[in-house]
Amino acid sequence: MSVIDIPFEYRHLCWFCGEPGSTSFNFKAGKNSPHPSLKLPCCTECHALAVKAPATSVWECLSGVKDALIKRYAKHLAIGDNWTREELEASGFSCRILSGFRESGWMMYEIARDRVNFSPWPLSLDGIALDEHRATLFAFNGLSFGSVGKARDYYQALYGLDREFFTSLINLLGQPRFGYALKLARLYRTSGARDKQRVLRELAEDAR
Ligand SMILES: [Zn+2]
Repeated sequence: MSVIDIPFEYRHLCWFCGEPGSTSFNFKAGKNSPHPSLKLPCCTECHALAVKAPATSVWECLSGVKDALIKRYAKHLAIGDNWTREELEASGFSCRILSGFRESGWMMYEIARDRVNFSPWPLSLDGIALDEHRATLFAFNGLSFGSVGKARDYYQALYGLDREFFTSLINLLGQPRFGYALKLARLYRTSGARDKQRVLRELAEDAR
């Protein structure tokens, strides 16, 4: 299996998350794969996630690994949603457990965020670029998701949102207004079905 080209500044780094890594992941190309079998440098954690991600290309595999990282580190990532660095530093947590959170919480958030957001270097094999089939990502609030659907799943779980209502809001408002859809979904989280229907109807009328 051929090892992908590794730029000098990225040597010894995981292709998936950018952390130091010393192992490699063998992607075995199938009938529908847009590229040949490849060997990618990676860390042990991403390796374990990559072998579990069903994929026809390494970019699909990459989405699967990122989604799994988002899921695994949801608690760390939520720190950045709920706090700013300054707020956390100024917080008056004084008991032992919470003061540890104050001191390391932001760092845990930054590590998880940077791993999720790490953009792998362009794929090439012996100088020939392989990147034309790379999927586009959806970015929101400083995080990159494999797709808008994955962003929806993440925030739905984080805030306990009504999945159907949130999905309808995203569909009505479109990806560029994802933040507004999220605000409305949070605002109407505990509202009844009738109120939600009214909001959707009004948005649909506005969109006309
Ligand atoms: Zn990794």
